Amino acid sequence: MQLAHRMTRLGTETAFSVSAEANAHRQAGHRVFPFHLGDINIPTPENVMEAAIRAMKGGKTGYCSNLGIPELREALAEDVNRSHATHYTLENVVIEPGGKPVIGKFLLALMNPGDQVLYPNPGYPIYESQIEFHGGVAVPYSYREGDGVFELDLDGLERALTDKTRILILNDLQNPMGAEASAHERERLAEIVRRHHLIVLLDEAYFDIRYEGRSQSLVSLAGMEERCVLLYTFSKKFAMTGWRLGAAIGPRPVAEAIGKLNVNDESCSNHFIQYGALEGLRGDQSGPRRILEELKKRRDLCVDLLNGIPGVRCFRPRATFYLFPNVTEAMARTGLTQYEEFRKTVLRETGVSFCSRLHFGRPLPGEVQKYIRFAYSGIDLPDIEEGLRLLKGFVTSSAPPKRTAPLASTAARG
Ligand code: PLP
Repeated sequence: MQLAHRMTRLGTETAFSVSAEANAHRQAGHRVFPFHLGDINIPTPENVMEAAIRAMKGGKTGYCSNLGIPELREALAEDVNRSHATHYTLENVVIEPGGKPVIGKFLLALMNPGDQVLYPNPGYPIYESQIEFHGGVAVPYSYREGDGVFELDLDGLERALTDKTRILILNDLQNPMGAEASAHERERLAEIVRRHHLIVLLDEAYFDIRYEGRSQSLVSLAGMEERCVLLYTFSKKFAMTGWRLGAAIGPRPVAEAIGKLNVNDESCSNHFIQYGALEGLRGDQSGPRRILEELKKRRDLCVDLLNGIPGVRCFRPRATFYLFPNVTEAMARTGLTQYEEFRKTVLRETGVSFCSRLHFGRPLPGEVQKYIRFAYSGIDLPDIEEGLRLLKGFVTSSAPPKRTAPLASTAARG
C-alpha cells in the first residue's frame, strides 16, 4: 500500500525513541534513571479521581457535547479569567482530548497553505510537524543564554517576519528550556503581533507549574485577547497526562471552528473525566499544591547536582519541570562531541537517560553550544541523586570504552 504524499511532511516526537531505548536498557537488566520523560510519576489528586469515578458510575458514559460539558467550559473560563485578567465565557472554551490536539486544530482552522508560521526552536517538536503537515511554512525563532535565564531572540524573530507571516506560536513557559518571557519581552511581542496583524497560538501547558512568582500571559496585554488562542491542559497541573484532557480558549468563531473539527474527529472528549477536571478546578487545591512542592524539591536537587558536574552550566527556571543545561564543555571532556553518541554512551555506561537539543527541532545555522534536556517530573529524589552522581562520575572519569578513533584522538580529557 502506498501512503499518501502528505505523510512525508508529518514529523514526530523523536523523544519517544529515547523512551524505547531506555526501556530496552531496563529490560536488559540495567537500572535506568529516567530524565527523558515529560510524563509525571505522581498520582492524580484523589478528589479528581473520585469525581471521575462518581461520574462514570453515575452514567456519564455516553457522548457529550462536541464542545465539552458546559460546567467545565464555564469553570475553565472563570479560572483563566482570574489568572489572566481576560473576559472569556464558556463560548470561548472548547474541551479537547489533551492540549496537543489544539495545535493541529488551531492550524487547520486558521492557517492557509503557504502561510508562514513562526515557531520556537528549540521547542516542542509537534509545532514544526503540524505546520508542515498542513501545508504551512515553518519559520524558526530561537532563544539565547542571558543572565541566569534564556532570553527570546526578538531581533531574530523580527528579522524572520515577511509579508507571508500570519501566525506566531509562543510557548510561554517553554519546553524544553524552562524559559519564560520577561515583562519587556511580552510587551515587545504584543507590539510585533499588533503591528504585523499576527494570530497567536499561545501554548501555556506549563502556566501553573510554577515554583516562585506568578505566571504572566501575553493574552493579558492590550489587543491580545482577540488575536490569541490559548492551549490549556489538565495534564501537568493535575498530573493527568494519561487522562487526555485539555482545551482551546479563544475568540468565539475559532472556538466554533475547532468544535466543528471535533465533530469530524473524536466527536467529543471523554465524558466522565470532564467531571474529574471540574473537581480539579473547583474543588480542594491541596493536590496540585503537593505536586508543585514535590517538583520544586526535585528541581532544586537536579540543578544543584548538575551544576556540580564539571563542564555543565544549568539555570534554575522558576517554572516548568524541565532543565536545559549547557553541556558543551562536559561533552568535550568526554570526547563525545556528537549529541547522539554522548546520549547513547551515557545511557549505556550509567543508565542516565535524557533527551538532547536534537529532539526539539533541527539545529539552527551557527549553533555551537550544546544542550541536553532534563525532565524531573518522572523521577524520584533518590534516583535523581544516584543518577546525577553516576553522570558526574562518567564526565570526570577516564575515557569511556569503545570510543571511536577520530574522537579519541581529539578528546580533551580533564
Ligand atoms: N505543549 C507543550 C509545550 C508540551 O510540552 C506538551 C506536553 O508535553 C503539550 C503541549 C501537550 O500536552 P498534553 O497533550 O498532554 O496536554
